[in-house]
Amino acid sequence: MKIAVLTSGGDAPGMNAAIRAVVRASLHYGFEVYGVLDGYKGLLEDRMILLNHDAVSGLLTKGGTFLGTARLPEFKDEAVREVACKNLKERGIEALIVIGGDGSYRGALALGKLGIKCIGIPGTIDNDIVGTDFTIGFNTALTTIVDAIDKLRDTSTSHQRCSIVEVMGRRSGDLALYAGICGGAEFIITPENPINKKKIIERMKEFKETNRRHAIIVVTENQFNVHELAKEITEASGFASRATVLGYIQRGGQPVPEDRILGSRMGSYAVDLLSQNIYGCCVGIRDSRMIHLPFVNVLDQERPKNDLYPLLDKIS
Ligand code: ADP
Repeated sequence: MKIAVLTSGGDAPGMNAAIRAVVRASLHYGFEVYGVLDGYKGLLEDRMILLNHDAVSGLLTKGGTFLGTARLPEFKDEAVREVACKNLKERGIEALIVIGGDGSYRGALALGKLGIKCIGIPGTIDNDIVGTDFTIGFNTALTTIVDAIDKLRDTSTSHQRCSIVEVMGRRSGDLALYAGICGGAEFIITPENPINKKKIIERMKEFKETNRRHAIIVVTENQFNVHELAKEITEASGFASRATVLGYIQRGGQPVPEDRILGSRMGSYAVDLLSQNIYGCCVGIRDSRMIHLPFVNVLDQERPKNDLYPLLDKIS
């Protein structure tokens, strides 16, 4: 069998480990494996390279994705997908492994309807995919954020300030939640855990009155304008506040061991599924075990609220 692998949407550390595992497991089964450059864009433009054992050596330590990734909104158009599908079929490639987020899964589901055997692997730092406890890249991004919060705490303590830290996450607050717990945040504001500004201001007034040295607030992107929030807190409570938007730094860096292992397991498992002629599904990890679920059971479903939220009332 000939199979192809691509990375799509936002990059995430550990994607390279997943590509490497796809290639090595494919060779193990005697499959020929192609890497598609720059996601669905490369598929449309027929840019693919044959990968061998050595082509994926030395990748485990590298962040990003060596195949490149891109966004191609036109892929929602069936005529565009037909060209991509024709490019695969002309090379005799019958299966495609897509490493990305839920937008990428939608593309894979649609390609499946044109006869390509697709498997999805969750690669996104946001941890926002239903059907998996963790996505590839989440733990590395978390490590980066916790390091940043630790550093911000040093300076905010010296100046007696509140640090507001904005992190990525789009529709999921997991990065803010886990990082906030690791960094001892006073408040964690996420789409699943919105917090009233008044409550924050009251607490910061108390901090000012009791001469506390520092406070940390972690916020998921798109909840507030954090610079305005800092100004409001400073003016209303008297406790000086500063905002830091961590931005794209959260996407980069050497993958931590958890992401290397997760990428390796998921990449290999995806090929196991194809070897058993199972497709039209995405891979996940649940209670430390590999699972797979049909795309349709994962897309447009709501992730249950994280079990860690009740902890915040007790330990914040
Ligand atoms: P992510 O995969 O990280 O969620 P995006 O939402 O940007 O990132 O999706 C990545 C790519 O997947 C898009 O640029 C597009 O090419 C493709 N895609 C997204 N949604 C669809 C859709 N509904 N149908 C087909 N392809 C899609």
